[in-house]
Amino acid sequence: MADHAHPATEPPRDFIRQIVADDLTQGRVQPPVVTRFPPEPNGYLHIGHAKAIALDFGIADEFDGLCRLRFDDTNPSKEDVEYVDAIIRDVQWLTGREHIEVRYASDYFPQMYAWAEALISKGLAYVDDQDGETIRRNRGTVTSPGVNSPWRDRSPEENLELFRSMRDGQCAPGSRVLRAKIDMAHANMLLRDPLMYRIQFDRHHRTGDTWKIYPLYDWAHGLEDAIEGVTHSLCTLEFATHRPLYDWYLEQLELDPRPHQYEFNRLNLSHTVMSKRKLMELVQRGLVKGWDDPRMPTLCGLRRRGVPPAAITTFCREVGYTKVDTTNEWALLEYHIRQELNRVAPRAMAVLRPLLVEITHWDDDRKESAHVPINPEDPDAGTRQLPAGRLLYIDQDDFMEDPPKKFFRLRPGGEVRLRGLGYLRCDEIVRDANGGIERLRCSIDEATLHGGAPTDGRKVKATIHWVDAASARNAEVRLYTHLFTAENPLAVDEGEDWTTNIDVDSCTVITDAKIPAFLTEWPVGAHVQFERLGYFCPDHDHRADRPVFNRTATLRDAWAKAKGAS
Ligand code: ATP
Ligand code: MG
Repeated sequence: MADHAHPATEPPRDFIRQIVADDLTQGRVQPPVVTRFPPEPNGYLHIGHAKAIALDFGIADEFDGLCRLRFDDTNPSKEDVEYVDAIIRDVQWLTGREHIEVRYASDYFPQMYAWAEALISKGLAYVDDQDGETIRRNRGTVTSPGVNSPWRDRSPEENLELFRSMRDGQCAPGSRVLRAKIDMAHANMLLRDPLMYRIQFDRHHRTGDTWKIYPLYDWAHGLEDAIEGVTHSLCTLEFATHRPLYDWYLEQLELDPRPHQYEFNRLNLSHTVMSKRKLMELVQRGLVKGWDDPRMPTLCGLRRRGVPPAAITTFCREVGYTKVDTTNEWALLEYHIRQELNRVAPRAMAVLRPLLVEITHWDDDRKESAHVPINPEDPDAGTRQLPAGRLLYIDQDDFMEDPPKKFFRLRPGGEVRLRGLGYLRCDEIVRDANGGIERLRCSIDEATLHGGAPTDGRKVKATIHWVDAASARNAEVRLYTHLFTAENPLAVDEGEDWTTNIDVDSCTVITDAKIPAFLTEWPVGAHVQFERLGYFCPDHDHRADRPVFNRTATLRDAWAKAKGAS
């Protein structure tokens, strides 16, 4: 990550960084600081994960520490290598690191198993033969204690024997579990003899059929952290109630030095959903075109849409890390996307809905050229030379036959500036057989070409974009709005399908946009601003002979604002 704020010279930005800094200066933690980002490979990463990644990798960077990507692959029934590969790609992209240290919880299964036997031997874990439903029922409630299992007082020897038979595949899935022996009346229900292992015969994407038992999150997570020498195990607030259990296991195993868990507020964003389960539902029900649909809040979707990783990281930093759950506006993310793209995106002119303009006093072989800055934010970027001939395209939105008062763009008899070229006047409308507008017959004031001023000193109020028709190429352009109409898509009435909030018009496909020829070679992943229209990037489907662009973000639209105000 770009940002290397050293803790010695700058005050910590948030309470987590404060804890890390204090741990180091007060000697509670021996360097290096070690963090991890621990996704379960059961779906694709979303922008919520980016907030965790920015913190885990950011802290490692700032404190000269180390952050690993560790797959929490402890549940083979839902996990897959497809997700592993996608997650690695996304983390590389977001952090800008080619090399990511990758670890797998499944590599630690033998060590975890040995520790489970150690707890059994100490009389701190037991094999329970109750079925899942009975275990749930006997947990009690917040106001009433649970009921001890009739198998709770098995001897360590018997427990070891049974646990080994579970491991060896001699017990049917669901017939037995291994539980920690803590306290069935504990005020924190998570400590009422929590499950450590369950029997599962699914094939694991890395360990195959080796294991017939799989560790549960609370048991596994702290052990994984301890094995890796993690100093600060950072997770979201919903894990705060799990922390006593995290600590209990590490204490009983007498592991030293011990990792510590700290919790921060998760990222919630308006107009979208942020749970892998919900995103999976959208994909499986065909409500979006895959995990990387540019309307998805997934990292691969945002990448495909053209969102630069720096914008996501800056957004996460801006939103910050606290102990209070909030929802942030999607508009704030867009603000950071625009800020970043304004800085880096070269400018170009393209026309979304073409309207043909004929410059009647130019011959067919007249060739002019316009010079426009490639990026006004970056003077070193230079200028681009654009061809212009007798036929040009402008956008239909920039012409109105019978416009309201505040419309300053082209109208019959009116005049605008063609960006970089000169003053254009509309002399006549040519109609098609249906009475629609086929083309505009126009004239250009020759004195205004190449930046010249009109001889009579008159001014025009609007500058519009255009593309030379002879050299233009057709392109498909995809415009996006929020996938959901509701700010909180999950706020639906009892029994109502939450996906009713999907905006069926959230993707508009324009198939006959006009782009300058050089954009057919624009690489996938590169940004470009179509002047006055927004920031765009080639889609995965883009080919030189069949260009496809996604709109990443609009520019702020002064006209829409004025319309809204009037
Ligand atoms: P989801 O709830 O979307 O299914 P998850 O929490 O199950 O996500 P994991 O793969 O377990 O996904 O998450 C990996 C890490 O990312 C965890 O440490 C988790 O706390 C963090 N994380 C997940 N969602 C968010 C979020 N919205 N904001 C911040 N961090 C998140
Ligand atoms: Mg989870």
